[in-house]
Amino acid sequence: MTTKRNIVILGGGTAGWMTAAAMAKFIPARHYNITLIASAEIGTVGVGEATIPHIRQFNELLGIDENTFIKEVGATYKLAIRFKGWGKSDSDYCHGFGYSGEVINDVEFHHYYLRAGGAAKLGHYDNYNIAALAARAHRFNYPQDNTGDARSHFGYAFHIDASLYAAYLKRYSLARGVSFIDARVTDVVQHPSGDIASLLLDNGQSLHGDLFIDCSGFRGRLIEQTLASGYENWQHWLPCDSAQAAASDAIDNPPSYTLSAAHQAGWRWQIPLQHRTGNGIVYASQWLSDEQASEQLLGAIGDSADMPRQLRFVTGKRKKSWLHNCVAIGLSSGFLEPLESTSLYLVQAAIEKLIEYFPATEQCQGAREAFNHYIDTEYERVRDFLIFHYYQNQRPEPFWQAMSAIELPDSLQARLAQFRESGHFNAYRQGLFMPVSWTTLALGQGLQPQAVSPRISHIESGAIAQRLNRDASQLDDWVASMPTHQHAIDVTKNGAAHYPAASRSLYGANNK
Ligand SMILES: Cc1cc2nc3c(=O)[nH]c(=O)nc-3n(C[C@H](O)[C@H](O)[C@H](O)COP(=O)(O)OP(=O)(O)OC[C@H]3O[C@@H](n4cnc5c(N)ncnc54)[C@H](O)[C@@H]3O)c2cc1C
Repeated sequence: MTTKRNIVILGGGTAGWMTAAAMAKFIPARHYNITLIASAEIGTVGVGEATIPHIRQFNELLGIDENTFIKEVGATYKLAIRFKGWGKSDSDYCHGFGYSGEVINDVEFHHYYLRAGGAAKLGHYDNYNIAALAARAHRFNYPQDNTGDARSHFGYAFHIDASLYAAYLKRYSLARGVSFIDARVTDVVQHPSGDIASLLLDNGQSLHGDLFIDCSGFRGRLIEQTLASGYENWQHWLPCDSAQAAASDAIDNPPSYTLSAAHQAGWRWQIPLQHRTGNGIVYASQWLSDEQASEQLLGAIGDSADMPRQLRFVTGKRKKSWLHNCVAIGLSSGFLEPLESTSLYLVQAAIEKLIEYFPATEQCQGAREAFNHYIDTEYERVRDFLIFHYYQNQRPEPFWQAMSAIELPDSLQARLAQFRESGHFNAYRQGLFMPVSWTTLALGQGLQPQAVSPRISHIESGAIAQRLNRDASQLDDWVASMPTHQHAIDVTKNGAAHYPAASRSLYGANNK
């Protein structure tokens, strides 16, 4: 008989319980014990309410029924992020989970749109994105089966109560054999090799492990405080370092988008849930004081049941997410502000990769390196996209002026140079985001390419405009016939919604 190996997860926030649930589902209980330790005294970050469509895949992998999930976590649907005041102070565009227009004769839609006169002649680029249009109209429908047009070609995500999601996954994990200990880790014992041997708890227990997963939040109790992985600080590119969060009342027929409204030194979010609205302000403390931030947040939301909760962060990532026999997942592995709702996606990506590379023995140097490379790529791609939001602006405030003058990472510099020259963004083979997302941001925030594809230079611009106007009014008709967002939520709560498979509706803006 072989002895069972011990997987120890430190941390009971969203990252910890997402990890525990996936491990319980995919790692055979005959050979592994899984234990999660978390201290109620320490608590969790507990924000993390806006998601991207990949969360549907995660739930599907776990076998979670989507209607049940929506009821349990107070979720609403999400089709887009609405960016107000990004670019210019009065700009307003939506990054929808879908395509804008169609690829015609192998040439992307935006080349036709720009050739026909762009925003000046045809209105916003996102007028051609069904998910963005439906979000603006506070409507929701599932992507339809095989219509072969925009009605099939979009995805959706959720606004969730992150604490309820963690609680739901806790029940899921415990029912599948995960052991839970409510205690604080006070010390860590290491082997001479540097590997972690066991955790000493404040209840006197010593917990031996073979693999440790650090989901202990910003502090990185194992990956940093014990193993000293080191941190790549990206604040020179993304200088926001503070946030405040506060809840307000639920909204009737809430928007099916996350709101991100830029202010003089950062941005403010609004995330509608069934039972409340999550609000927050993200800012650079060098440019805006905590008092000014609270004032702005409360001014925008009116009455709030609670005083804003203060959070601090350092944007960046651990130099190595997997070091020795410890893998960091969640905030212990890094932090990128939630401007594109990517944190839970990064948790999910790390979990799925760890399970794919799961080490059969203690010899796992290859898996470790491949995992770290994968995580680095995921973080860097999100980072570049976030920097682009700040850099591409024409706002007058000192913070924004400074942001438009920063020195870009080489990877982003090269990407933007290609778009400026030719209107083209390369597709990544791994990581967020797809070219349509980059194009949406570029056009939404006023970056025009110098040229469009020469392959359509022979087509008369008036003829293209006529066709695009027809397409836009067709999209408007389709959106007008969708149910209101509130109706869609009510149907789901009654358990009557027939949702599509996650793999089928994973289109558009945020593909892996
Ligand atoms: C302002 C803000 C807004 C955000 N918005 C979004 C969003 O819209 N969308 C999104 O996807 N993400 C968002 N995030 C990120 C998201 O909140 C986190 O990714 C997510 O909550 C996961 O956190 P975590 O589980 O890694 O850490 P935490 O929630 O901090 O959990 C840490 C856990 O470790 C335990 N712990 C720590 N030390 C010890 C110890 N010594 N002994 C025992 N237990 C210990 C704690 O008890 C706790 O259970 C946001 C984050 C911030 C800061």
